[in-house]
Formats: sequence, C-alpha cells, structure tokens
Amino acid sequence: MTCREVVELMTDYLEGALSPADRDRFEQHLAGCEGCTAYLAELRKTLRVLGGLREVPIPGHLRRRLLAAFGDWRTSSRVTGGPDREQ
Ligand SMILES: [Zn+2]
Repeated sequence: MTCREVVELMTDYLEGALSPADRDRFEQHLAGCEGCTAYLAELRKTLRVLGGLREVPIPGHLRRRLLAAFGDWRTSSRVTGGPDREQ
C-alpha cells in the first residue's frame, strides 16, 4: 500500500469502514511510515474538533454579535480609508 492509498483510506479507517484485509495492510504501512502516522493523528484530532463544534453550535445571540461587529468593522474601515479623506 502506498502513502497515497493510505491517505485516501484514512477517513474510512477512522470510521471503521475498511475490510479486515485493507485494515491489516493499512496498519502495516502505518507501522513503518512516520509521515502517515503523523497525518492520521492530525486527521483524528481535526475530526474530534469538528465533532465538538457540531455538538455545540454557536448560539444565535453570539452569531448576531459577531455579524454586528463585522458590520462595524466594514463601516469604520470605509470611514478611515475612504476617498473622501484624501481630497
Ligand atoms: Zn506512508
């Protein structure tokens, strides 16, 4: 199994969707490949973070505050950087 194949099978591996034969070959490659082992650890961490976000959605009032802050930023940047000031 090549690194490319391993990377393509990683999500299936983490979901337990690999056949026992593929799983064996996958783990054999990991045992001898530092790069893929590190990549798998990263992917596992990322999936955990994404899973956490799905469990705790951003509350509506916080989202509105973020949007309001973004609106303020756009307004103030237009005031300080607009062409009116240069004339
Ligand atoms: Zn590899």
